[in-house]
Amino acid sequence: MPFMLWLVDHPPYPSYWNESMRTAVGNALKAHFDQVCTSPKTKYGSTNFSWANSAGGRQSDHLVLHFFRRNRDGLLYMWGQRAGLDRSGATLWMGAKGMVSELYLEMMEGDANYAKLVANAAFHEAMHNKLDAHPSYDSFDVHKIKGGGLSQEFGISASTRLTSADINAMAPALTRTIPQF
Ligand SMILES: [Zn+2]
Repeated sequence: MPFMLWLVDHPPYPSYWNESMRTAVGNALKAHFDQVCTSPKTKYGSTNFSWANSAGGRQSDHLVLHFFRRNRDGLLYMWGQRAGLDRSGATLWMGAKGMVSELYLEMMEGDANYAKLVANAAFHEAMHNKLDAHPSYDSFDVHKIKGGGLSQEFGISASTRLTSADINAMAPALTRTIPQF
C-alpha cells in the first residue's frame, strides 16, 4: 500500500489554478515523498496523490493538505485563528477536529517555478503535520533539524532541496496515526 497524499483545494480558485497546475504540484510533491520512501526507516515504498474536491473525498488519514488562495479563505481563519497565518502555509493541531495543514497560494504567486514552490511549501507543512504540531511531539522542532533543507524556517524557494536530514526525520514519521481534518 503506498503512502497516500490527499490534496484538497477550496474555492475561490485563482485563474491559473487549473488541472495542469494541480497535476504539476501533485507530481512535484510526490517526488519528494517518493524520495522519503527510499529510506529503510519507512515501510512505504512509494506514494500516490489524489486531488479531492472536498475533505470528505479522502479515504485515509495518511496526510491531508488543504489549498486556499488566501489565508482568509481557510479553515483556520474561519475557526478564529489569526496568529501564524502570514506565511505560505500553516499547520495547527485543532484538537477534536484533528490536524489541519493549509497552503496559501497567493503568498507564492508570481514565482517563475510556481508549481515547484507550492510543492516545497506543502512538504514543509507536511513535516510540521507529522513531526512537531501534535501535542505528543511538542519537544521536537522541525525548524531546528541540522542540515535541513525543506524543513528550514525561512527562505524556502522553488530550488530548495529535500536533504538527507529531512528524509531521516520524515521517514519514520509517515506511519504516525495523526487524525487529519
Ligand atoms: Zn515551518
